[in-house]
Amino acid sequence: MKSNPCLLCGACCAYYRASFYWAEADDATPGGVPVNLTQQLTPMRRAMIGTLGSKPRCIALQGEIGVSVHCSIYPQRASVCRAFDASWIKDVPNERCDKARLTHGLLPLRPEDWRDPDDEFRPAA
Ligand code: SF4
Ligand code: SF4
Repeated sequence: MKSNPCLLCGACCAYYRASFYWAEADDATPGGVPVNLTQQLTPMRRAMIGTLGSKPRCIALQGEIGVSVHCSIYPQRASVCRAFDASWIKDVPNERCDKARLTHGLLPLRPEDWRDPDDEFRPAA
């Protein structure tokens, strides 16, 4: 199976502000975003620590961007993170994904980055 290109990237987690409605955090929603990894943004919104400022990098991002990464709170990540689609994962590009990658020196994803070569058409034996 082809590996998930996001696990070799992580650029969006070190480019965009990850902010969300305050009650997504686990002091309001059991199993939600760990509140100790967030900071207050406005009275109604919180942000992942590290994603504000000129050189953002989410506190929950583990690993080296462009090499090997993972989100340490993946099952608890905020709706804004869940809603961010990588380019071509749903057969359409996402210019925000492409922009984050380019900023970190990575080329935009291509449709074939999601395709397993074993899934290609093969003549019947
Ligand atoms: S919580 Fe996880 S998915 Fe969301 S920005 Fe941070 S590292 Fe990325
Ligand atoms: S920038 Fe795109 S490819 Fe990279 S981790 Fe984010 S969604 Fe995945």
